[in-house]
Amino acid sequence: MRVLIVEDDETVAAGLVEGFASASFTADHAAAAEPAESALALTAYDLAVVDIGLPGVDGLELIRRLRRRGIGVPILVLTARDGMADRVQGLDLGADDYMVKPFQLPELLARARALIRRSRSATSSDLTLGPLTLDLSTHTATLAEAPLSLTGREWDILEQLMLAVPKVVSKQKLVESLSRWDNELTPNAVEIYVSRLRVKLDECGVAIRTVRGIGYRIDELTTA
Ligand code: CA
Repeated sequence: MRVLIVEDDETVAAGLVEGFASASFTADHAAAAEPAESALALTAYDLAVVDIGLPGVDGLELIRRLRRRGIGVPILVLTARDGMADRVQGLDLGADDYMVKPFQLPELLARARALIRRSRSATSSDLTLGPLTLDLSTHTATLAEAPLSLTGREWDILEQLMLAVPKVVSKQKLVESLSRWDNELTPNAVEIYVSRLRVKLDECGVAIRTVRGIGYRIDELTTA
């Protein structure tokens, strides 16, 4: 999952990037509204964490611009302790949730996950397809009720495929989801991880299909 941190305070931003990374997110950082707006227009983020108090164009104006452009990314705003008016206005402008500074990282991460789940209109933290289940809160996978051991990269790819069911995930999106591991990743590397996943999933009720020229899709195998 990919998150954009929009925060001008370098210390807070570094803490957030590290916190999200440790929770298996790919976290990018923008220190002002303009680069954030460009990044969110160009890249499909799963979440934006937006500090209201940005220099120049503030967080509220950023949210207004994003929503006016039809960018529907879930937004969690960060406000000062006495910023009730900001919180209300932020929510009115289209933010989805808020946290008051100083915040506890575990709570922020839990809210982030909840927002992402809500935005995908799922009701639990489990992604299930046939005999395969990914538990997003504990980062564990099971296949036919047996634990499925995955590397971090394999998990990232499988999560993207499971979140997209029944749609195809482009190879480029998979490359992006792996960029927290390796910035120089090529589409060929994605092929390698997919083939490893196929070995692990082999004949257990689900299959990763190649959609030529586009990407991959995970399907449930039906027994006829
Ligand atoms: Ca600030």
